[in-house]
Amino acid sequence: MNTIPKSAKVGTDRPGLGRNADLYWANEYLQITETDQELRALVDDAELPVLLAALAAALKDMSLLDPRLSPSLPPMRGTLQPHGGLDDDQVARGRELAFEGLLRLRDEEIRSVDELTEEQAAVLLDWFTGGRTSSDPNWAGQMQHELHLAPNRNGSADWSYEELSSGRNFETLIVGAGVSGIAAAYRLKEAGLPYTWIEVSHRVGGTWWKNHYPGVRLDTPTYGYSFSFAQRDDWPHQFATGEEVLEYLETVVARAGIAEDLELHTSLERAEFDEASKTWVATTRTKAGTLQTRHFNAIITCVGQLDHPHVPTWPGQQEFTGIQMHSQEWDASVDLRGKRVAVIGTGASAYQIIPAIVDEVERLHVFQRSAPWMLPAPTYHEPISDAAHWLHAKVPHYGKWFRLWVTAIGIEGRIHIATADETWHNTPLSVGANNEEFRQEIIRRMEHQYEGRPDLLEKAIPLYPPSSKRLLRDNGVWAAALMAPNADVVSTGLESFTEGGLITGDGEHLDVDVVIYATGFRPSDYLDPIEIIGRGGIEIHEYWQGDAKGFAGITVPNFPNLFMMLGPNTTGVVAGGLHIMMERAAEYAVEAIRQLLTRNVAALDLKQEALDRHIAWVDAENNRMAWGQPYVNNWYKNRFNRVSQVWPFKTTEYWRITQKVEPDDYEFLS
Ligand code: NAP
Repeated sequence: MNTIPKSAKVGTDRPGLGRNADLYWANEYLQITETDQELRALVDDAELPVLLAALAAALKDMSLLDPRLSPSLPPMRGTLQPHGGLDDDQVARGRELAFEGLLRLRDEEIRSVDELTEEQAAVLLDWFTGGRTSSDPNWAGQMQHELHLAPNRNGSADWSYEELSSGRNFETLIVGAGVSGIAAAYRLKEAGLPYTWIEVSHRVGGTWWKNHYPGVRLDTPTYGYSFSFAQRDDWPHQFATGEEVLEYLETVVARAGIAEDLELHTSLERAEFDEASKTWVATTRTKAGTLQTRHFNAIITCVGQLDHPHVPTWPGQQEFTGIQMHSQEWDASVDLRGKRVAVIGTGASAYQIIPAIVDEVERLHVFQRSAPWMLPAPTYHEPISDAAHWLHAKVPHYGKWFRLWVTAIGIEGRIHIATADETWHNTPLSVGANNEEFRQEIIRRMEHQYEGRPDLLEKAIPLYPPSSKRLLRDNGVWAAALMAPNADVVSTGLESFTEGGLITGDGEHLDVDVVIYATGFRPSDYLDPIEIIGRGGIEIHEYWQGDAKGFAGITVPNFPNLFMMLGPNTTGVVAGGLHIMMERAAEYAVEAIRQLLTRNVAALDLKQEALDRHIAWVDAENNRMAWGQPYVNNWYKNRFNRVSQVWPFKTTEYWRITQKVEPDDYEFLS
C-alpha cells in the first residue's frame, strides 16, 4: 500500500454556515493507485456496509446496494457484531461488490462526490439502516440530520432572522463555550440570530480543557463524538485523547467564524425576567469583578452537567499534610514519581487515571466502594489502523459514512441490555435475561484477566446489575494496573484521614503523600450558582427544590425564553450520542425564536401540565431501566431517588419531541 501523505485531501467549499456547510468538507480525495491485490486486502479490513454506502454515493450507483446485504443492525452485546450482522456469505458477496467498486473509483479516477438527489439519499439511508428509515420517520429525520450528502440537512434553519424579524431586535445570551455552547452559537449564527456569547474561563472547550488528568480521552468511539456540521474524518485515534477533542473544538469555532463572538472571562451571575418588557435583565461579571447589566430577549444556558466536583468529607481531612486534588482540578505541577498515592473512586475518571500513573508512583492504593462494569474495547488505546486511514483518505467521505454508521448503531445501542424485567429472579445482581447474559460474558472476561488473583477477582466483580452505572471501556489495562506489584485495592472503605495518611475501614493506616479524588460530580445542581428569577419572582432553584426538570431538558415553566442545553434528563447512557442531543436542543431554541418572530410576540412560557406530562413519560421509562431500580445508586439519580439526568429512550424519540415547538404546550406572552 502506498504511503498516505499527511495532507491527504484538498480544498473545501462548504465552510462556515448553512444547509450545506460542513467545516471538514473535502472537495477531493486522493487518487487510488493501488494494485488489484492491494485493493482486495483493503476491502478485507473495511466495515462493509460503510464501504458499500460510500462507494454507491461516490459512483452514484445504487446497484451496489444489494438488498440482501442491507445490514440488520442486531442489538449490541458486549462487543459489536462486525458488518452490522452480515453472515459469512453476505460478507463474501459484499467484499466482491466493494472490490469492483474500488476498481471503478480507481480506473475512472473518481475523487469527489456531489450532493445526492433526494431519491438517492433515501435509498442509501434505507439500505444502510436495514429498512428503518422508510418505516420510521424519526429514524429518517435523524439520519438526514447527520448525512452530510443529503439535500435536506434538516438541522439548519431554512429561514433567516433578516427575513422574519421585520426590523425587530431579538438578542439572545448564550452562556458557556463548551461542546453545547458551540452547538448553540453555531445554530443561532446560521439563522442570522444576534447573540452575545460569554464564557467564564479563558478558552473554549469546557470539560475538555478542565479535565486534563493523565490518561484523559474519550470513552465512547471518536466517530460518534462530533457535530453534524463539522464531520472530521481523519481522527488519529479510535478513542480520541482529551487534547485531540479540545483541538477539534477549537478548530470548529475558528472555521465557523464564531471565535470572535466570544467574550471570555465573563460569567452570568444573575438573570431576572422583567415582566413589563418581557426581557431578561442579566448581570454579568468579568474576571476583574466588573459587573454589567444587559437586556436580552432569550437566554441559552450551556453550562454543562458534570462540572461541579464532588469531594466527600472524612474526619481528619483538614489535618492531612499531603496533597489533595480532584480529578477535574488536576495540578500538573505535582510530580507523582516515587510518591505514595491514594485514588478514591473507581468510576470513569479513575479508570483513566489509575493505569496512566501506576508505573510512576511508588505505591498506589485504590479505594473502591463499588467495582465498575466494563465493556470490552480492545482498541481503546489504538490509533486508527493503516487500512482505515487509507479508506478515509482515498474513498470519498468514507469517514463520514463511518460516523453515520456509529450513529445508526448507537440509536438502539444497548437499551435491551439495560431494560428491567419485573419478574426477573436474580435481582439485585441483574435485571433481566439479556442483562444476565451480558453480566456472565463480562465475568468470564474478568476471570481470564485476573487469573491467579482470586482475591482481586472477588473485588472486581460488581454486586449490582450491569449498566445501572456508567459502563467503562476495557482493553485490559485496568486489571493490569490493579494487579501491579505496587498497587492494592481497598474495599473496606475509608474511615478517616491522619496527618500522614488514611485509615481504612478495617483499621489499617496507610502512609500517603497524595490523595486523588476521582469521586465524581454534583450533576443535580443544575445551573448552580447562577441566580435565575422568573415570572412571579420565583428563583429557578427554589422552583425545582433540588429536582431539576425541563421539557426535553430545555424549557421550564415560569422561565420564558430560557433554554437549557444538556439540561435534566438528556444524557444517553447506553444509546445515542451527546452531540445529537445538544444540536437538537439548540435547534429547538432556534425554532422557538422563529415562532416568536412570526407570531410577533415577546416570549413563550412552558405550561406546567406540559412539563408534568413529559416528566411522567420519562420517569416511567427510567423506572423500567437498570439505573432506575430502587436498589441501585448512581449519579443519574438525584436525592429524591428520581433519575434526573438520563434520557432513557432512543435518540429518535428525542428527535420526535424536539421536531416541533408545540404551541399548545406554551403560553405566548405579547
Ligand atoms: P463517577 O462515575 O461518579 O465515579 C465516582 C467514583 O467515586 C465512584 O466509584 C464512587 O463510588 C466513588 N465515590 C464517590 N463518593 C465516594 C465516597 N464518599 N467514598 C468512596 N467512594 C466514593 O465520577 P467520574 O469517574 O468522575 O465520572 C463521572 C462521569 O463523567 C462519567 O460517568 C462520565 O459520564 C463522565 N466522564 C467521561 C469521561 C470520558 O468520556 N472520557 C471520563 C471521565 C468522566 P460508587 O460507585 O460506589 O458511588
